Amino acid sequence: MQQPTSTLVPTYYFPPAPPKVPPRVDEWPMPTFRLRVEDLTHPGAQLFFEHVNPVQALREAVLAVFKWLYTTETVPRHVETVVLVLRSMPGAAHTSGADIYKEIHFSLEHIANNASRAKDEINGVLVHEMVHCYQYNGMGRCPGGLVEGVADWVRLHAGLKPPHWREGGGDKWDAGYEATAYMLEWMEGKYGFGFVRNLNLTMRDREYEDAMFKEHTGRKISSLWKDYRAYVDESRKAGKA
Ligand SMILES: [Zn+2]
Repeated sequence: MQQPTSTLVPTYYFPPAPPKVPPRVDEWPMPTFRLRVEDLTHPGAQLFFEHVNPVQALREAVLAVFKWLYTTETVPRHVETVVLVLRSMPGAAHTSGADIYKEIHFSLEHIANNASRAKDEINGVLVHEMVHCYQYNGMGRCPGGLVEGVADWVRLHAGLKPPHWREGGGDKWDAGYEATAYMLEWMEGKYGFGFVRNLNLTMRDREYEDAMFKEHTGRKISSLWKDYRAYVDESRKAGKA
């Protein structure tokens, strides 16, 4: 039998839960926001302005990232400018840029294709992309699936999961997106609030290695994945019973 996890995990891994009332917006290091719309006549652009206030949406996305991945003490202050570019392109969105300057490219077609739930989809994608503006990536060595999983995990916590997301997808721990996000959420529940936040912070100054999971949970990522799959199977069985 396995020992209870509480004996394996030092308590200092888990900082206290964040305050119920988040810090005031002006106390957080908000970047300058810019907006570029490459086709104002596109139906996606019309939906965007009909459903969201750009400044408010970008601010709330930044606050969601700060709230779930950082504290007032650890919040990154290096991002000076975030540019949102609404344009015609394949895919949903992507983010690029250097430390101080980030560009989020957001597909107008993607907005138009989600017209019936445009507000939630726009805000959800903005939160996901904003995570990429601020998350740490273990000196560029973090698996892409984990980078995407952390982004969707914050989106999940921001209450902006799209209707098609289901717990228990993916055939490996770093399958990415919501598959990895739900596994991280299971780990957060098992190993305590702050697990994902601490994993992200661990990747600030160190090259990513799988052993980081063991540092935070006492278990190898391969065993964690096995346990998560067992949990998913159990939940499915229980759901069918
Ligand atoms: Zn992404």
